[in-house]
Amino acid sequence: MSSTPFVPTVWEAALAYAEFGIPIFPVYQPIGQSACSCRKTNCSKIGKHPRTENGLRNATRDRNQILYWNRRYPDTNLAGLMGNGIFALDIDPAKGRWDSLEALQKQYGELPHTVTSKTGSGGEHRLFRVGEGITVANAVGVLDGLDIRGDNGYIVLPPSLHVSGQHYEWINSPFEQVLSEAPDWLVEIVKKKTKSYESHVASQNNDITKGMRNDTLLSLGRSLRAKGINAKGIHGALLAINEAQCIPPLSSDDINTLAKNVCKKPAGDIVPRHRIELPPIK
Ligand SMILES: [Zn+2]
Repeated sequence: MSSTPFVPTVWEAALAYAEFGIPIFPVYQPIGQSACSCRKTNCSKIGKHPRTENGLRNATRDRNQILYWNRRYPDTNLAGLMGNGIFALDIDPAKGRWDSLEALQKQYGELPHTVTSKTGSGGEHRLFRVGEGITVANAVGVLDGLDIRGDNGYIVLPPSLHVSGQHYEWINSPFEQVLSEAPDWLVEIVKKKTKSYESHVASQNNDITKGMRNDTLLSLGRSLRAKGINAKGIHGALLAINEAQCIPPLSSDDINTLAKNVCKKPAGDIVPRHRIELPPIK
């Protein structure tokens, strides 16, 4: 008699991951093969972006919080926060990354077997642990295009659904396979590459650092207001830019205050005041 393998629901899996040591949080799931449950048209991260207000900052291992999310979001995808001694090597076949991995292994040696999931696009997430005190930064496209999901990064976890219609699945689950320590050569390469990646990003002058944050966001908010953007739009824009570029980000209270200040002025000072007279419809 053959036994049916036990396939946990997303939330049963979430509890198990939390116990294993991976903080989790819910992310939106795909609807069909082109839409996202966030309902935004043209969502660029279908089935992969956080559905809680503070995103990955809401990641938790707390059983009660997870049970609460289970009730609130019965149908969802699930993500796991990386960092704190664990990172994932993200291999995306759509970008031809198997070649990069093969080249690396040829040069340095085979990667050890470790906890590995198959992603919905047919790629892999290979999880590694690192020694105490070592942090691995989150970095996209550093190893000939292989991505590193480290500190402040996350991966979508099985049994989440991918927009391709495939589910994320374990090849070697954390409940059967030892989480291997990353070989030194991999850590060294990642460290070197993420350092140059970080300085590359910084040199593009993207960061809005301390001393510039309030002024920059205020003047940006004012110019949006002058273009006729409403209070909700301005608040959303300031939040997004704060999150993406301010180092460190301002608090949400600070952003609320900034947005309120900006919106004391009526929207759309430079929008034409007078309607253009259209010819009457015959
Ligand atoms: Zn979405």
